[in-house]
Amino acid sequence: MPAGTKTNQVSNPKSQAPLALILFGPPGSGKGTQAKLLVQSLGVPQISTGDMLREHIRQGNAVGTKVEAKMRAGILVKDDVVNRLVEQRLAFADAARGFILDGYPRTRAQAETLCAMLAHRAAQAVVIHLVVDYNVIIARLTGRRQCPVCGTLYNVTSKPPKVPGVCDLDGAALVIRDDDREEVIRERLDAYEKQTRPLIDFYRESGKKLFDVDASHEAPEAVCRTILALIR
Ligand code: AMP
Repeated sequence: MPAGTKTNQVSNPKSQAPLALILFGPPGSGKGTQAKLLVQSLGVPQISTGDMLREHIRQGNAVGTKVEAKMRAGILVKDDVVNRLVEQRLAFADAARGFILDGYPRTRAQAETLCAMLAHRAAQAVVIHLVVDYNVIIARLTGRRQCPVCGTLYNVTSKPPKVPGVCDLDGAALVIRDDDREEVIRERLDAYEKQTRPLIDFYRESGKKLFDVDASHEAPEAVCRTILALIR
């Protein structure tokens, strides 16, 4: 059972259908930060395909070996690999009454697979599109530091740790993710523009609830309140 899961206030109060909250936006738009805040308010788990893939790499298993080079280069891994990971994760009991998708879907094929998975669960999809200025994205990604032990994210300018380079929570030395190097950031943004951004039209055309949320200017807590107001 994945850690960090509360199961008290879960499904969408309006419909009782499981809520499938899809956090959508470019790298650096704050999907991971919002997912972590929303987990606390909604009591449903965060499902981050990026975190799951990094965990497979850390374990050095077959999935990790398959995806490592692509992730280091900032390009998307194969649809069938991430589709399978999400399918398996959704089968955990803690996801039965809702979940927050962070970084999935990222291609049309993934979006179509997800539609089938949601239909199977009679889940109600709400897409939150985090809209962020390009310069803000670059500043966020180049300044990002992560604790290799607990995963907490920092930013050297907007959210520095109390002691530079050290995690506030467990004292571990912070690291720059391999894919936060400048040339890789360019690849990731390119992948977003070409393969992921078109999904906005896919969701609009399929009649799903999709809300644009300005995530450039407000503090993460304020952005989270906006998202909660939209889904409630
Ligand atoms: P993230 O942590 O979401 O920024 O993802 C980091 C990297 O993991 C991406 O640049 C991709 O290489 C890979 N990745 C994560 N999620 C997906 C996905 N849904 N489809 C394909 N590749 C993914």
